[in-house]
Amino acid sequence: MKNSEDTRETLLKKVRAAMSEKRFNHVLGVEKAAIFLAEKYGESKEKASIAALTHDYAKERSDDEFKKIILDYGYDLDLLNWNNAIWHGLLGAKLVEKELGITDESILQAIRLHTTGAAQMTLLDKIIYVADYIEPGRDIPGVEKARAIAQEDLDEAVAYETKHTLAHLIDINAPVYPKTIETYNRWVAKK
Ligand code: GDP
Ligand code: FE
Ligand code: FE
Ligand code: FE
Repeated sequence: MKNSEDTRETLLKKVRAAMSEKRFNHVLGVEKAAIFLAEKYGESKEKASIAALTHDYAKERSDDEFKKIILDYGYDLDLLNWNNAIWHGLLGAKLVEKELGITDESILQAIRLHTTGAAQMTLLDKIIYVADYIEPGRDIPGVEKARAIAQEDLDEAVAYETKHTLAHLIDINAPVYPKTIETYNRWVAKK
């Protein structure tokens, strides 16, 4: 069994090789934010680190590769009607498992849910969802407010991010994935 520093270094090399320098810097920022939130809210820092480092692992894969994964693994064919924004986490977790050998289901789930959130989210899911939004390199309108809320109440940070992401999608006439609406109903509308 390798120690966690070895694991991290090995993982870093593979993740770096899978993406642009800009995206790799985003990933390192998400790791930083995720470890901070793990410490603050009582999650394993090692799990937070691994999930953060791998959350966007598949983001630069081609649409054709994702479509092949949907067909080969028997995912719901409705996924064919979506795009990289929805595929890279949901299907990316499968590539993280197969190519990086990560089998911890809690980590794979956090990767799957990192873009859309979900009605049911574990502490680790929330940490990765929020860390992706507030990482130091992010320059989204309202990110300072999101960072401040994340210091106080993680569930409120999930709600803030969900509301602002949904408002943005509506603003640009983007299709909203049903799971994003479920996240909104649970964490914003508190239905
Ligand atoms: P990133 O991978 O670090 O850039 O961040 P995310 O994985 O959180 O989001 C990727 C993209 O998906 C962003 O542009 C989001 O605004 C977008 N996104 C989030 N939810 C939805 C959704 O329900 N529908 C669509 N079309 N895009 C979404
Ligand atoms: Fe992402
Ligand atoms: Fe996100
Ligand atoms: Fe990301």
